[in-house]
Amino acid sequence: MPNFVTPITLKIFSTKNEITDYFNRKPVKVIGFVPTMGALHKGHLGLIELAKQQSTQVVCSIFVNPTQFNDPKDLEKYPRPITDDIRRLEEVNCDILFNPQVTEMYADNEKWHFDMGDLEYLLEGKFRPGHYQGVTQVVNKLFNIVKPDIAFFGQKDYQQFMVINKMVEVLKMPVKLVMCPIEREPDGLAMSSRNIHLTPYDREHSLILSKALNWVKENFDINKIDTLQQQAGQMISNEPGVELEYFEIADGKTLHHATPASETIVALVAARVGKTRLIDNVLIS
Ligand code: AMP
Repeated sequence: MPNFVTPITLKIFSTKNEITDYFNRKPVKVIGFVPTMGALHKGHLGLIELAKQQSTQVVCSIFVNPTQFNDPKDLEKYPRPITDDIRRLEEVNCDILFNPQVTEMYADNEKWHFDMGDLEYLLEGKFRPGHYQGVTQVVNKLFNIVKPDIAFFGQKDYQQFMVINKMVEVLKMPVKLVMCPIEREPDGLAMSSRNIHLTPYDREHSLILSKALNWVKENFDINKIDTLQQQAGQMISNEPGVELEYFEIADGKTLHHATPASETIVALVAARVGKTRLIDNVLIS
């Protein structure tokens, strides 16, 4: 007998009630959840594939969350290719897409936030004030709507993972978080929805980010942390068309500057390449 795999029909919901009714009518053992802002690429699809392996049903959300953008122009030009996204979700057999409008997620003039302490003010938090307040706000809402057993996030947004992990701990939310490795282009550039904004010139010079991170990883055992951080930063600053925001070798838990006593160490970078802001990181130990 040929081994037919029955294709799954992607269910598309745009309201909280639809998703709640669906799971009330059809309880499932393990709900896996992959929150995204769309413009899906292999990094997102890798999260969905991992979620498929660990869950009974997988929900992917696509919601460009306005409260996490501190730059209105960045929000406006964020790519929204929903038809392509739906096709990609179908190709990886995702079960459910949650694709709400802003009015479904926020009341008029809704203003509140969690305070997650230091973690949300360092690094990305310093360069994008209020960003993590928007992230925790929307992820909290999404968790309350989807009620996932496991939620999958990318290491690409390492600090975001740490902030959400803290929120889950503080609020004792009943969800397990899984961090998935960074998906890269063959030449090392971390995949990102923003990469489409890179000109061919930017694209060529963007490689300095992953090169500097790898250089730090390769030379970690033979150099002082401060020297490595300074030299990697310099390498990036010397690259034409690239404006460094930060290069930090940090403690993997606190995200404060790493010390030789840090159990896990991560090097993180943010830079503007042409007009596009990129982030990347590498786990060192
Ligand atoms: P975004 O749509 O940018 O909000 O990303 C949605 C999720 O995909 C987040 O958990 C990201 O960390 C993850 N993600 C984005 N890019 C990558 C990548 N290149 N590799 C792995 N995960 C990624």
